[in-house]
Amino acid sequence: MTAKSAAAAARATVYGYPRQGQGRELKKAIEGYWKGRVTSDALRATAADLRRTNWLQLSDAGIHEVPTGDFSYYDHVLDTTVMVGAIPARHRAAVDADATDGYFAMARGTQDVAPLEMTKWFDTNYHYLVPELGPDTAFTADSAKQVAEFEEARALGLTARPVLVGPVTYLLLAKAAPGVAADFDPLLLLDRLLPVYAEVLADLRAAGAEWVQVDEPALVQDRTPAELGAAERAYRDLGSLTDRPRMLVASYFDRLGDALPVLAKAPVEGLALDFTEAAAANLDALAAVGGLPGKRLVAGVVNGRNVWVNDLEKSLSTLGTLLGLADRVDVSASSSLLHVPLDAAAERDIEPQILRWLAFAKQKTHEVVTLAKGIAHGTDAIAAELAANRADLASRANSPITHDPAVRARAAGVTEADARRSQPYGERTPAQRARLGLPLLPTTTIGSFPQTDELRTARADLRAGRIDKAGYEERVKAEIQEVIAFQEKAGIDVLVHGEAERNDMVQYFAEQLTGYLATQHGWVQSYGTRYVRPPVLAGDISRPEPMTVRWTTYAQSLTGRPVKGMLTGPVTMLAWSFVRDDQPLGDTARQVALALRDEVGDLEAAGTSVIQVDEPALRETLPLRTADRVGYLAWATDAFRLTTAGVRPDTQIHTHMCYAEFGDIVQAIDDLDADVISLEAARSHMQVARELAVHGYPREAGPGVYDIHSPRVPSSEETAELLRAGLRAIPAERLWVNPDCGLKTRAWAETRASLENLVEAARTVRAELSGS
Ligand code: GLN
Ligand code: ZN
Repeated sequence: MTAKSAAAAARATVYGYPRQGQGRELKKAIEGYWKGRVTSDALRATAADLRRTNWLQLSDAGIHEVPTGDFSYYDHVLDTTVMVGAIPARHRAAVDADATDGYFAMARGTQDVAPLEMTKWFDTNYHYLVPELGPDTAFTADSAKQVAEFEEARALGLTARPVLVGPVTYLLLAKAAPGVAADFDPLLLLDRLLPVYAEVLADLRAAGAEWVQVDEPALVQDRTPAELGAAERAYRDLGSLTDRPRMLVASYFDRLGDALPVLAKAPVEGLALDFTEAAAANLDALAAVGGLPGKRLVAGVVNGRNVWVNDLEKSLSTLGTLLGLADRVDVSASSSLLHVPLDAAAERDIEPQILRWLAFAKQKTHEVVTLAKGIAHGTDAIAAELAANRADLASRANSPITHDPAVRARAAGVTEADARRSQPYGERTPAQRARLGLPLLPTTTIGSFPQTDELRTARADLRAGRIDKAGYEERVKAEIQEVIAFQEKAGIDVLVHGEAERNDMVQYFAEQLTGYLATQHGWVQSYGTRYVRPPVLAGDISRPEPMTVRWTTYAQSLTGRPVKGMLTGPVTMLAWSFVRDDQPLGDTARQVALALRDEVGDLEAAGTSVIQVDEPALRETLPLRTADRVGYLAWATDAFRLTTAGVRPDTQIHTHMCYAEFGDIVQAIDDLDADVISLEAARSHMQVARELAVHGYPREAGPGVYDIHSPRVPSSEETAELLRAGLRAIPAERLWVNPDCGLKTRAWAETRASLENLVEAARTVRAELSGS
């Protein structure tokens, strides 16, 4: 291989593309189908249209090989479950009766049958449906979708590359089926699964596929020798098949680490690696194995999951280094573009100058094509693009939006003492107890109360100009009155105002902070037909004025009981936004923390005695590689403490996290130095409480006793039973009584009944305690 021939061959590609369409046509068609308003033929036609539009757009933009099979009605892991025939027994009949309806039954469940569990796709905000496997799982190949979509693209005269979830990643993402021992290792099924992949590969070859892309993102996580051995076996077996397309094994989201030498040695024809954040590590590892002689290297140099314009010169330099390391070097985004919105050009409310800093899927595609052209034909061929890119990067770097001297000076002046409360936990609790005067096992809720149709209508009316701001606020106040009156009557001890004014726990704050941008069309798939529009954290963050104080003080004016102030924490503000990439995350988190710290201070000054700072995202943004976790947890806990540590000893700081599995971050949770934490626990029968106890967690905790993910009303006896289980792990002086999470998705009737039962359960157990 020579660098020169590798350069001349350089081409542009992407691993996958947003599915929804510019007007979210797919969402509308699928939801219409569920409601019986769209026929299955019409649904299929919409889907085929969207695929065609995407492929033609990609190919017109200069993408050489378009991805196929990445499209999905719901989720690509569920599609893989169908492809390998791993249909759970409880869904078999529905799938046999009607493939489409059966597919949606697996995704969403039916009246009688539970859906597959859903969880996060690596460290993104996309959710996949977890395969359920067991020793009895029998795989069968169903290549119909893959073959059909490949043929659709071919019929348009395009070069297409089918995209599969790889067998190792598929098994590593799976869990034990219901009824199977929880410690069942799905990887044991590899030998049974590989022949099915072989069949699919043969079918794709027969259909004319030259290349397939086999995605193995699970290999960028820490893997045991056994898991690496499985990867080695998988690609040795699949690689030695004669009747197959050439294979490009794709990795993304992080560095390949120990898996790189395994794949480099495997008899496959290509590797795709992430050269964004993982660039240095992947480059070193690649050099250490002597490059990829005889192989195709696809270099993900354009970040596939942020929204920022690429630094083309930097990417060209990375590509330049790579050219000597493989036979052919192609250019791509670092991951599927599924994780970014479709087209920045659709944004009308963002200043044109700032819009030029943004790159969504369409713009990223263009960047990839430009880079491939620059490699193949020399930088002169892309001189105009390079000049424009330089200007855009300079405008971003020098903008007062990204560099607010006041924000920077304040952040630079933060001392360690700012992030430390004036008294340690043990000393300040008596002051809080004296101030709050709460009973044993105090009852509270997580913050939100049902978002009623009236509230949604009020917001729509405000947007449409049918009511003015004052009219809207009257409706919010009416809601707060109802929420406070109900809680008083039910006998809850620490009240909330109900969050009626909030559309979303991140967006609400983003809209009020300087430095955030909102998009009109920046939709990305969260799961199935649910799309979210994350705000864009573009600049230095400051808080022009208080954001929540008037609502909390209004609520407090209606009652003598304490009303909790309610804020979204800095880590969650970052996790559920598109975050700037021009400074370390920790610096951005510190700015957000300082803005929130002012809000905490204002709440306290207004008389608020309990303030909750929610961090449901703390666990989910944990880096994929263990080695990176320490650094992350350090800035994350610092930011939380900076937000909360300025309060008086007798002001009680609460935090909330939804996650059930957090054994690996208990220390970090303790380091937050919050006084009280509420957590999800009802479904796991207080498992969390036992984990806290095992770790010697010293603070007050409210493991949830009411599962809010279902409309079911738990009886007071059942709730009391959970409380008693909680008491076996956490002493009564430190145990709180609360639901698992916020109530915004619930209806009022079930909320009322469940909370009344919760209060009754607390009273029952208190009586038992004073009797004993
Ligand atoms: N305070 C928020 C609520 O109750 C917390 C939501 C969450 O944890 N995701 O809605
Ligand atoms: Zn929650």
